[in-house]
Amino acid sequence: MTEKMLKFVNIGQQTPPKRSANKRKDDFKEVYDEFINNRAKEQSSRCSQCGVPFCQVHCPLHNNIPDWLKLTAEGRLEDAYELAQSTNNMPEVCGRICPQDRLCEGNCVIERSGHGTVTIGSVEKYITETAWEKGWIKPIKVKKEKNQSVGIIGAGPAGLACAEQLRKSGFKITIYDRYDRPGGLLIYGIPNFKLEKFVVERRTKLLKESGIKFKQNFEIGKDSSLEELKSIHDAVLIATGVYKARNVEIEGKNLKNIFPAMDFLTASNRKGLGDEVKLFDNGTLNGENKNVVVVGGGDTAMDCVRTAIRQKAKSVKCLYRRDRENMPGSSREVSNAIEEGIEFLWLSNPKKFIGRTKVEAVEVTKMELGEADSSGRKKPISIKNSEYKLEADMVIKALGFDPENIPKLFGSENLSVSKWGTIKIDLKTMQTNLPGVFAAGDIVRGASLVVWAIRDGRDAAIEIEKYLNSISEKKIKAA
Ligand SMILES: Cc1cc2nc3c(=O)[nH]c(=O)nc-3n(C[C@H](O)[C@H](O)[C@H](O)COP(=O)(O)OP(=O)(O)OC[C@H]3O[C@@H](n4cnc5c(N)ncnc54)[C@H](O)[C@@H]3O)c2cc1C
Ligand code: SF4
Repeated sequence: MTEKMLKFVNIGQQTPPKRSANKRKDDFKEVYDEFINNRAKEQSSRCSQCGVPFCQVHCPLHNNIPDWLKLTAEGRLEDAYELAQSTNNMPEVCGRICPQDRLCEGNCVIERSGHGTVTIGSVEKYITETAWEKGWIKPIKVKKEKNQSVGIIGAGPAGLACAEQLRKSGFKITIYDRYDRPGGLLIYGIPNFKLEKFVVERRTKLLKESGIKFKQNFEIGKDSSLEELKSIHDAVLIATGVYKARNVEIEGKNLKNIFPAMDFLTASNRKGLGDEVKLFDNGTLNGENKNVVVVGGGDTAMDCVRTAIRQKAKSVKCLYRRDRENMPGSSREVSNAIEEGIEFLWLSNPKKFIGRTKVEAVEVTKMELGEADSSGRKKPISIKNSEYKLEADMVIKALGFDPENIPKLFGSENLSVSKWGTIKIDLKTMQTNLPGVFAAGDIVRGASLVVWAIRDGRDAAIEIEKYLNSISEKKIKAA
């Protein structure tokens, strides 16, 4: 093993080439190129094969990272892919957009010893892209279809992962989604420069070819109720994500040209997919030639500022009330944004939106950090008489998302939710208080990550299968 591995002492860390900021600002293509074969092998061989692999512990899917790195270093890519896909339904997606600095790579032992982490995400992407190219990824062939069916509400990563796992076990699956395309936030939230859409479309096509039925433009609460779905299917999974945008409750909040982040990102993603988008085509949701101000410091804010710069905005400023160290967004994405020319105004909070009918400026208050609050983060406090004005033709609010009122929307007022509106589940069984109804992903956790949605979808599949087996056993006994 030592021959092929443990090369971190002699081989330095290298990520796949990143396109220059000037070039990438001109298009929406992904920022990172792919590894070439030799580089992937070489970089994988840096892994120290630790006894307790902290990368694996800190990957929400507990991917068997050291083993697939070793197989890659040995050139056994098909085996590496088999292993990678055994714990992850979308390794090529996670390889691209997991915040690895907070998960696997941030806990790599050689990173901790100052040698620079193994570039785990890039290798995961490389292995899976190779598998697609070589035709190793095939639709599921169900030998004997079971007579039980599962209805899944939501075609985001949680719903898709659950569907795939249950289909492998032979269940009939129908996914209902209110959008016209499957993929959830992978399609309409996350921009192309992080995740090109063909990557998602290729996956959902494979699931369709596996016999999973998709009913798009179908909204539970409008086209059907939860009760109706329960009567058609033997079990139901709610995987609807969280979509209610948080507002900025300040003077001028109702002025024109102040938009929630998802309106802005969805319009841009739809344009990228070739759709006609009236509000983009007439300039309303297009940042071109505008002074754009984005409020927020998470991943969604980073996606908005980087989208605006690609739309050729006159200026793009990001207002965040804490400092860089305390930003919730991935530090990699913040660095990418800075390279692309976004101006960050740390410790700055909007106090007032100014304008007659449309927003023309933002009054900003300077902030300082006080004592840590209950979340452990330092509380931002406004500094007296520090206000100044910032020119703005368009403001984008990226302050996070809350759940919609699912019990009301679904016509199931008896469905239990937490005080935040997320769906309550029994953590062991993933089941809600309604028998046969399960829930997974952001609608349970609150806004989170794709890798956690996949994990939840997989866990839900295990529990749904147990539940379906138990009801068919009961039926057999009763017969
Ligand atoms: C702008 C943005 C950028 C992000 N970037 C990253 C990133 O870089 N890395 C990362 O790991 N995570 C990122 N995330 C978070 C990640 O996208 C989510 O955590 C993940 O998509 C949650 O998956 P989900 O399946 O629970 O929900 P979603 O992906 O939200 O999917 C839910 C689906 O349910 C459907 N639906 C909702 N209500 C109904 C209904 N009533 N009837 C029928 N269908 C319904 C929706 O149409 C949607 O398709 C980002 C999020 C946003 C908003
Ligand atoms: S799924 Fe995410 S956290 Fe896990 S190994 Fe891949 S990139 Fe790292």
